Amino acid sequence: MRYSKFIGRSLREVPKEAEAVSHRLLLKAGYVDPLVAGVYTLLPLGWRVMHKIEEVIREEMEGIGGQEILMPALQKKEQWLESGRWDGPGEIDPPLFKFKDRRDRELALGPTHEEVVTDLARRFIASYKDLPLAVFQIQTKFRNEMRPTGGVLRTREFMMKDLYSFHANEEDLDRYYLEVLKAYERIFARCGLKVLVVSAHSGTIGGSESHEFMLPAESGEDKALYCEHCNFASNLQKSGELKSCPDCGQSVFTASAIEMGHIFKLGTIYSEKMKAYFVDSVGARKPLVMGCYGIGLARIMAAAIESKLGHDEHGIIWPKELTPFDVHLVSLEGGQDTAESLYDAMEKAGLEALYDDRDEPAGVKLTDADLIGIPVRVLVSKKSLAAGGVEVSSRSDGKAEVVPVEKLADKIKEVHER
Ligand SMILES: [Zn+2]
Repeated sequence: MRYSKFIGRSLREVPKEAEAVSHRLLLKAGYVDPLVAGVYTLLPLGWRVMHKIEEVIREEMEGIGGQEILMPALQKKEQWLESGRWDGPGEIDPPLFKFKDRRDRELALGPTHEEVVTDLARRFIASYKDLPLAVFQIQTKFRNEMRPTGGVLRTREFMMKDLYSFHANEEDLDRYYLEVLKAYERIFARCGLKVLVVSAHSGTIGGSESHEFMLPAESGEDKALYCEHCNFASNLQKSGELKSCPDCGQSVFTASAIEMGHIFKLGTIYSEKMKAYFVDSVGARKPLVMGCYGIGLARIMAAAIESKLGHDEHGIIWPKELTPFDVHLVSLEGGQDTAESLYDAMEKAGLEALYDDRDEPAGVKLTDADLIGIPVRVLVSKKSLAAGGVEVSSRSDGKAEVVPVEKLADKIKEVHER
């Protein structure tokens, strides 16, 4: 794509209220644009990163047998009354975005889909032969937050992957829950994130056991308690009293952290309330045993920036899996013609290139390239051509070298791999 034609180019000024590093950089580099508090447009750069995250998540969910579906964002009151989460003491926290349609029928914008999916299950699952079953979606969710903060870390409208699983018994749920936990670890590792897996409270989602995936980061709103000597980690709310590790006895540390994902063993709480039964192998009627598993996509985008290797004083540094483009091609004075033909060749070869073809001074273009954070930069100028080709550099270590044009493809690959 040509940067000269881009909607959402970099900003010179960033709104003062942007405190988190990810918020500042995403605004400044033109990845997102705010509409009202906690609601953002994803501009081309941001939307491309979200697609990359989606690909990673989809692969891993399909790898553990998840079937992709898309449930509606609009949900019906009757199902939420069945689960007891519409209002009263069991009301979901934060409360739903509720409204009436023109026929005075009450609806809500879904923050989660236990009600909709349990209703599907009670109509489509009849026998133990239909089990286990897992469905997932990547869809827009709504949370009626009182105080959205931290840019894209806590928003009122956001993309989420939610997976729901159905089982004949607790043992099978335990087995699958562990498979999901491992798939989540792979997702975060592929996105370049070192997360802690912590046991957590189930909150208003409910259930017997839950784990959160937390990324230690200064801007995090949650607190994680962890041991440096073994794998023990917990949500501070859950284990706040602990002074030493319950597993190995060493002292424990606390850190601010961002909650990246949350998985729950729901058991039969929803299936009993909503009468979702199946017939087991001896003909008995039993409630379905359920699990639910969520990941926020924009949180991955923000957290990748918040993490130590995700930014420096000049801007964003994307990991290979999440970068919006493979290459940032920059033409400087005397390099325009070569850059044009290189851009055509990259398009034909299926290499995703952001091409800065603007008529701007070198300083502006290079500053923007650092800010946007694409891992490989290719610079074409009179100087580089005189030195024998184009200058290829890595955003992470800044190392640059001039390579002949015909060796460029191999060089780009090499920089991506290191
Ligand atoms: Zn320990």
